Amino acid sequence: MNALSNDFNLLGVESRAFLEQEHGLRIGGRAVPSAGDRKVALVDPSSGNVVGHVPEATAEDVDAAVGAARQALEEGPWARMRPHERALAMSRLADLIEECGRELAELETINSGRLIGNTRAFDVEFSAHVLRYMSGWATKIEGRTVDISAPYMPAGEFFSFTRREPVGVVVGIVPWNVPLCQAVWKLAPALAAGCTVVLKPAEPTPLTALRLADLALEAGIPAGVVNVVTGSGAVTGAALVSHPGVDKISFTGSTATGRLIATHAAASFKKYNLELGGKSPVVIMPDADLEKAIPGAAWAIFGNHGQNCCAGSRLYVHETVFDKVLEGVADIARSLRLGPGLDPASQMGPLVSRAQQQRVLGYIEAGRREGATVLTGGSALDHAGSYVEPTVLVNTTQHMRVVQEEIFGPVLVASRFSDEAEALRMANESEYGLGASIWTRDIGRVHRFIRGFKAGNVWVNVHNVLDSALPFGGTKGSGVGHDLGEQSVLDHTRIKAAVISL
Ligand code: NAD
Repeated sequence: MNALSNDFNLLGVESRAFLEQEHGLRIGGRAVPSAGDRKVALVDPSSGNVVGHVPEATAEDVDAAVGAARQALEEGPWARMRPHERALAMSRLADLIEECGRELAELETINSGRLIGNTRAFDVEFSAHVLRYMSGWATKIEGRTVDISAPYMPAGEFFSFTRREPVGVVVGIVPWNVPLCQAVWKLAPALAAGCTVVLKPAEPTPLTALRLADLALEAGIPAGVVNVVTGSGAVTGAALVSHPGVDKISFTGSTATGRLIATHAAASFKKYNLELGGKSPVVIMPDADLEKAIPGAAWAIFGNHGQNCCAGSRLYVHETVFDKVLEGVADIARSLRLGPGLDPASQMGPLVSRAQQQRVLGYIEAGRREGATVLTGGSALDHAGSYVEPTVLVNTTQHMRVVQEEIFGPVLVASRFSDEAEALRMANESEYGLGASIWTRDIGRVHRFIRGFKAGNVWVNVHNVLDSALPFGGTKGSGVGHDLGEQSVLDHTRIKAAVISL
């Protein structure tokens, strides 16, 4: 079973050297130890082996990081840099991410379990793409002139305008499923708008965020603009969201944590955007091109081992093609080769941690108890790595926990429907509203579903396509506000209205 554990001989010298470092926090442009002495152990999920430690940042560390970000915002060279200089530094950071692509991809794969092909081709490339796209916005942030009337001052003559200013110190809190990309999604619009940032990566996956902070300095982004504090949500995260020196919280994570953060933000009038959980439906109509829809539905759930906020975790198939589609998806599930992320032949890696593996297995068991049938998968591998077989559950009903709750693992629930109205009703019967896809060749139906889905992101004959230029965000329990796109840059600005008496 050793073939299921990562072979560290495959690592390049850079990632090996980074792994061997003593990891400090990144505050004010320096790698610094924590004021406290608690450490978080980092585990390679393919083997369960500890591969390093990072500090658990204390409230004192958080205070120092927020202080460094405030100083950089108000007094440092960043505040005086012109928009095109910010844009240049951001695009240099994109270049460095690509130059260090192998190292970043390897660190991510070891730390998170993601497949090396994906960390290289998606995480690294998309991170660079997002930075380049966002760098373009740095020079395009504009106010407006407004002809005011002020009817209560008939003799007055005025020139009036709005300015968009950086919102201030931004805290970016991210989850463990796509760590580098999520960190860049938080960082890039904030930098474009002229803000400074304190990033908090998820407890198990901090390595690429630490490396990103080093690269930001190398790219010419001044000290204190990008700070990173590592540690748990309960200690480090909680200290960040309640800190009075923070102006905006940009959060990606679970709906439960998002709710908590919104409460903190409201109490101190911080701005926030929340990218939260999902339980996204995939609807397959009888007229769909099944050659595309079947692998599309399988990829929608098994991509990144189901640890994907937009995972197509609920499959609704028209009764006339249900058996054929389910047979096809189950065949793909059975054929997937489970293996460690560093092995290029692996098609599905381990889940991020033992805890996540147990959580996912708990859901499969709950599904069984509630009457669902396991069509394929359903178990862990007998190995120290946190693997779970790709799993398909049928005979599910809408009220079951496996249909209503986010599992965040490779578990698909599938049901049949008889007409369009029933499909849309079932798709929308969820507390979440992040993504949804419809598979059909009928153009009228395409438009009816695009309008009818209660979700922030809708796809047709494809699932989970994201781009730097497209706003990404959810409705209902899936969140408030957006990452990516122009909107995310504007959300990092504050409008100031000015009136000059002539
Ligand atoms: P989580 O909510 O447990 O943790 C997310 C981040 O919040 C981590 O950095 C964590 O340390 C921090 N955190 C936890 N408690 C905190 C607190 N009290 N105060 C401040 N910070 C706190 O989520 P997770 O388990 O790491 O990630 C999985 C979840 O993320 C899933 O629900 C998934 O759908 C969601 N997600 C959403 C998107 C999106 O864009 N909508 C993308 C990826 C993941």
